[in-house]
Amino acid sequence: MANQLDELVHHDETDECPVCRAQSFVEHALIPAVAAWELNNELPRFSLALHGASALLGVMLEEGVARIDIDAALSELLDDIEHQIAEQDTMGGPPQGRA
Ligand SMILES: [Zn+2]
Repeated sequence: MANQLDELVHHDETDECPVCRAQSFVEHALIPAVAAWELNNELPRFSLALHGASALLGVMLEEGVARIDIDAALSELLDDIEHQIAEQDTMGGPPQGRA
């Protein structure tokens, strides 16, 4: 299972990179939709983001992916995002979609 998640975390440089395609979908479709759902339903900011993310990861648990593998993959992805945020802060201004 760890190898399978590994493929979903690490990029390759092809046009068909599934990591890039997934990230693009999340950035352009999911993040704005979640923010709008929170606002329209008078839910606290980040409530759907947190519970949506954990519920989606819970599906992985249900399907037999080991929690330690999910934890490791998530930690790596969050490290990458922190790194991107730091780079964007250096260049000035918040990233689009996270402002
Ligand atoms: Zn990629």
